[in-house]
Amino acid sequence: MKLYENEIPKSSCPYCKEVMDRAGGIDEVPPEPGMLTICVFCASLSQFDDDMQLVPLPRELWETIKAEDPEFASQVELGQKAIRMTDRRNYPSRTNE
Ligand SMILES: [Zn+2]
Repeated sequence: MKLYENEIPKSSCPYCKEVMDRAGGIDEVPPEPGMLTICVFCASLSQFDDDMQLVPLPRELWETIKAEDPEFASQVELGQKAIRMTDRRNYPSRTNE
């Protein structure tokens, strides 16, 4: 699976407070308000608000997404798992393999 990287306005993760200025995605579509994102530091799911700042994803919304698009939801969960398993001792790294 290829990951695309898009620059985003600086925003900090609502969970771990790490500041991010890039978002990786599974397609080339740049992030826009309302889109979900997975924190590369803590694997939390958040959402872009109208000013492209990260806000916590409401649990009910996630439940709705899981019910309506289980395939998308399982891709997201796989992504979270991959981040949790990543050895981050050398993080940050900007290499693309
Ligand atoms: Zn985080």
